[in-house]
Amino acid sequence: MLDVGRHPNIELMAYSEVDKVEGEAGAFKVTVRRKARYVDEDRCTGCGACAEKCPTVVSDAFNEGLGQRRAVYSWFAQGIPSTHTIDADHCRQLNGKKCGICKKVCQADAIDFEQQDRFIDIDAGAIIVASGYDVFDASRIPEYQYRQIPNVITAIEFERLLSASGPTSGHLHRPSDLAVEEEIKGLEKKAAKALKMLGKFEKKYEKGSEEFYLEYRDGKYEGDEDRRKWAEKYEAYLAVSGPLEEMKKEAEAFDVAKRLAFVQCVGSRDFRFYPFCSGYCCMHSIKEAIIANEHEPETTSVIFGMDIRAVGKGFEEYKIRGGNQSGISYIRGRVAEIVEGPGHNPVVVYEDTRERKVMEQAFDMVILATACAPSRDVEGLAEILGIEINRFGFFQTGTSQPLDTTRPGIFTCGCAHGPMDIPESVAQASGAAARAAQILTDSRMRKAS
Ligand SMILES: Cc1cc2nc3c(=O)[nH]c(=O)nc-3n(C[C@H](O)[C@H](O)[C@H](O)COP(=O)(O)OP(=O)(O)OC[C@H]3O[C@@H](n4cnc5c(N)ncnc54)[C@H](O)[C@@H]3O)c2cc1C
Ligand code: SF4
Ligand code: SF4
Repeated sequence: MLDVGRHPNIELMAYSEVDKVEGEAGAFKVTVRRKARYVDEDRCTGCGACAEKCPTVVSDAFNEGLGQRRAVYSWFAQGIPSTHTIDADHCRQLNGKKCGICKKVCQADAIDFEQQDRFIDIDAGAIIVASGYDVFDASRIPEYQYRQIPNVITAIEFERLLSASGPTSGHLHRPSDLAVEEEIKGLEKKAAKALKMLGKFEKKYEKGSEEFYLEYRDGKYEGDEDRRKWAEKYEAYLAVSGPLEEMKKEAEAFDVAKRLAFVQCVGSRDFRFYPFCSGYCCMHSIKEAIIANEHEPETTSVIFGMDIRAVGKGFEEYKIRGGNQSGISYIRGRVAEIVEGPGHNPVVVYEDTRERKVMEQAFDMVILATACAPSRDVEGLAEILGIEINRFGFFQTGTSQPLDTTRPGIFTCGCAHGPMDIPESVAQASGAAARAAQILTDSRMRKAS
């Protein structure tokens, strides 16, 4: 990515979308919408002073909603260009309220609330569509109870939890525990506010709230309106402090997830959704289980799959190493159901096909290896580009020209073409670049002759 950003022949247009494509192979005119960031990319130094002071907290989509960010944010730390963006849906100033704090603190004077989308025309000889994929929505499989059982998560969410730059700094805290910790933070704020209010009464009447409340309950201050309010505030404080103490006690027992289950083929190889194999998920589950064990050596993982498709150089050895050195066991069988056991522990119900028995096992966390699904906006993009998609929703290509779409001069590669891992996507990208170079050379030769 850094190389792309620095390359003299590559102009990177991040936060932009193709709006219109006219012309033909060798002479396309592409209109690109450069979306308003409300931050001047050229001025922004990426220092983050704006995000530090922004009062608006929203769910962080990059971290799959497991963390939070501010209304002015950088999508992720290593992004190119290193700049920030204002989220127009949530920014107070852009929604008619008074704020502008980011503008005040930005030393580079990069905040620009007047910025508008810009449209830029590009002359292009060829186009390569590398718009990737989306992960399958696991809640479409009701028996796995994704979003119902908090500690059943998807592989992409698990990757964010494992990441040192993720919402838990790489520690495998369980979503159910994180939710309790969030609740504790909220209650602590409420309790602090209530205590401040009680402090005012205590100072005025030179008495502790607890002592006062006992007297109040004995009827000592009947008819005293001010003291009635004090009693009311104290009762409100008790309603917060009681559950807060209980939750804090519960949280003392929280530990990182050490018993992991990986459920393979969630939406893949399933005629209800996608009949094909997504190709990369067996390997990413093994990778994730190995990394989890590196983070916490007591971690054990069970990978449930119909078979493990370790297709690639050294992949089978990697699978075996995971079993021998990283606490992974492989169980051949499709998971039938996941239910919630005590302590928010997900319980996996499955048929062990080798033992020919229906079994169940409880885990701290279950990770769903979701299918590679076409991008959500694939149909819109196909319409803009004037190309066809296949019956699964990926861009249609020819059998003899596997990187050519249905419109001459437009090529595709990577997961926009179909499920594949990174090395395969990179290899295809080289192939697509070579096909594009052919078109450019042909059109130059035509012009020269
Ligand atoms: C949990 C998980 C773990 C994985 N781990 C590994 C691994 O360890 N090793 C490995 O080899 N593979 C792994 N993979 C597979 C890997 O993610 C894919 O092979 C790879 O991302 C495919 O690259 P791509 O460039 O084709 O698509 P993507 O990575 O999806 O990139 C496409 C880009 O296009 C952008 N885009 C989409 N639509 C538009 C539009 N209309 N206009 C402009 N931009 C657009 C998207 O925002 C995105 O940035 C993993 C997959 C998952 C789900
Ligand atoms: S103006 Fe918007 S982005 Fe800036 S600090 Fe306020 S809420 Fe945050
Ligand atoms: S790679 Fe493995 S988990 Fe993914 S669809 Fe294929 S068999 Fe299933």
